[in-house]
Amino acid sequence: MNQPSLGPGGTRRLLKRLRDLMAGGGSSQDRLDEVVRIIAADLVAEVCSIYVMRPGEVLELFATQGLKREAVHHTRLRVGEGLVGDIAAHARPLALADAQSHPNFAYRPETGEEVFHSLMGVPIPRGGRVLGVLAVQNRTFRDYTEEEVEALETIAMVLAELLAGAAAASAEGAAGPVETAPQLPMRLAGLRIIAGVAIGRAVLHEPRISIRQMVAENVEAELARLSEAIQGMQSALDDLFAASGVAGSGEMDEVFESFRMFAEDRGWLGRMAEAVRTGLTAEAAVQKVQQDTRIRMSQVTDPYIRERLTDLDDLAHRLLRQLTGQRGAPAAAELPREAVVIAHTMGPAELLEYDRKRLKAVVLEEGSPTAHVAIVARALGIPMVGRVGGVVGGADPGDMVIVDGDSGQVLLRPSEDVVDQYTAALHAAAARIAEFAALRELPATTRDGAPVTLLANAGLLLDLKRLADSGAAGVGLFRTEIAFMVRSGYPDVAQQAALYRRALERAGDLPVVFRTLDIGGDKLLPYMERNQDENPALGWRAIRIGLDRPIMLRQQLRALIQAASGRALHVMFPMIAEVAELDRARALLDLEIERARRAGAAMPTQIRVGAMFEVPALYWQIHALLARVDFVSVGSNDLVQFLFASDRGNPRLAERYDVLSPPVLACLRAIVDACDHADVPITLCGEMAAHPLEAMALLGVGFRRLSMPSTSIPAVKAMVRSVSVDELVRYVERLTALADHSVRDHLRAFARDHGVAI
Ligand code: PEP
Ligand code: MG
Repeated sequence: MNQPSLGPGGTRRLLKRLRDLMAGGGSSQDRLDEVVRIIAADLVAEVCSIYVMRPGEVLELFATQGLKREAVHHTRLRVGEGLVGDIAAHARPLALADAQSHPNFAYRPETGEEVFHSLMGVPIPRGGRVLGVLAVQNRTFRDYTEEEVEALETIAMVLAELLAGAAAASAEGAAGPVETAPQLPMRLAGLRIIAGVAIGRAVLHEPRISIRQMVAENVEAELARLSEAIQGMQSALDDLFAASGVAGSGEMDEVFESFRMFAEDRGWLGRMAEAVRTGLTAEAAVQKVQQDTRIRMSQVTDPYIRERLTDLDDLAHRLLRQLTGQRGAPAAAELPREAVVIAHTMGPAELLEYDRKRLKAVVLEEGSPTAHVAIVARALGIPMVGRVGGVVGGADPGDMVIVDGDSGQVLLRPSEDVVDQYTAALHAAAARIAEFAALRELPATTRDGAPVTLLANAGLLLDLKRLADSGAAGVGLFRTEIAFMVRSGYPDVAQQAALYRRALERAGDLPVVFRTLDIGGDKLLPYMERNQDENPALGWRAIRIGLDRPIMLRQQLRALIQAASGRALHVMFPMIAEVAELDRARALLDLEIERARRAGAAMPTQIRVGAMFEVPALYWQIHALLARVDFVSVGSNDLVQFLFASDRGNPRLAERYDVLSPPVLACLRAIVDACDHADVPITLCGEMAAHPLEAMALLGVGFRRLSMPSTSIPAVKAMVRSVSVDELVRYVERLTALADHSVRDHLRAFARDHGVAI
């Protein structure tokens, strides 16, 4: 049997013939019949078939060379059924020398395919969807090469345009506009990424660029266009960042730097040039490489890699725009005055292109707090909700949208009542901002004279910018892992020390409690080995990694000691489950203190060591713990997820249990009592402290130190100054004994009856 001649030159010739065919006349069916004939001949295959996706997720045989003709428009496979269905379901190619022995092989007698042993099939992709499947078959047990699979993928991409064109033509022929039912209001739950509330009109972020020409006339000319576009894109990126107004602010530079590194990645640039050499135009090559990457990575669940894929998409769209001259984000005048941008995912540069004055909020179907786009949005102060399933399909451009970044929900087409309620709340909030500004200088003391310490949580240097304005008494939780997660490489001791030094400098005289790396679970570092924990929240994370990789923890402790020379160092260890873990962590710290002393380094004036209380088991060793630490900090986010065995990141469980419930309050009360008894300061630094009603309950169980995002401090301070703790403590004590699901309403009633500002 002849082997096919599909080097780049062969593919090029084939693509040209396909292009001519597309440009020619005849019905779509005639053209498809011709397409399969040409491909079969060129690939020296006895069969070439095209299956097209029909409504209801069914793949219909649309054209074939080699299978029985009566099977055309007759053979149908569900997505996932048979090998063709498998290719569509997973959006990935299959190349099998012995296809019939594959467990998914489904025999269709009407096709007469029993005599063909080998099969190579690829999805026909367009705009992130699978339009169909292109497959070839041979009688022999043929081993298809990787190059052949690549070639078939390139052909499938060109074919996608033909199919899309045919679909558009048949839609045009359809009878007049279809009446659509008015869309109903929708409430969608997601993940709080950046706090804040906004009301505006939906703008669907549409990065897709239409490509007019897929097949190159002149390969050299296309290569030159590609390289010119790459240069143009790189310098446009530099201009965009320079004009963003957020460059130079700590980690923002890291984001730009790693984004810029992608834009210069040789592998990416090389693959695009390679695709041009197979006969694609520069824009088709960019799209092909983007689609290949998406398809190959679609199975990856690692959040870090998924986020970087988004960056790559951003770059690919940018390059396509450079090549086609089409614009990205709508110009300011085309945006609604109050725009809520809705997208599957977005890269940092894409966000920067929207007009700052009109962009009020961002909603993403994917997204996470450490995605680059989230860091940019945080720097710009734009509320963001992520992981909102179905929002792109559910929203129409111009729809009214309420984005509630505080509760992590998005309301599409809300009723007038709801809009009024939110508008009133926004006005009230604006009025309170002025009031809060006056509060800044006033002490956080309760009506009956109990002093309360309100601290800020931080993770980025950016967060420390607002520290002074917020009236915080210091940083109660500095999440050191965040800086590690937004970088492209592991920072060495000097780099870490520089970062912590900058954080301390920005905090001025205020204390900063550094928490050692809390990675693992869903907080993965790109440059660390990956482990596939079945239950990441219960897995190899936080101090468990630190103790198993002591060099890493020691380097961090060394950097902290260096950074805090001449001032107090507060360091705490996350996820301590038993005292033995604290002892081992403490021993590593002692080794580093000893090492610094021996080297004659300037030391911190004092070193205070704390443990985070997040794992319930620790309660049964609390006395031993308190004998060893200088302070305790309750991480209520984790503590509550472990108490209720309820994943904190799962939107379906978000409202299942209430933190304002008797078990949680009783548990917290017991921990506070033990600390008070031992005279060890205790803080709560989880999400609970950020909301006035929850913070009031915390005062009720005995907390006098709360750490929260700095933006929450004014509202919590107003609550503190309006409450009398004596009465509150007695009231909450009674609540902890109830068997209720929640005591939220009781607490609200207390606040109302006692004039507490919540
Ligand atoms: C917590 O668990 O409450 C906490 C503050 O830590 P993190 O949210 O970073 O896990
Ligand atoms: Mg935690």
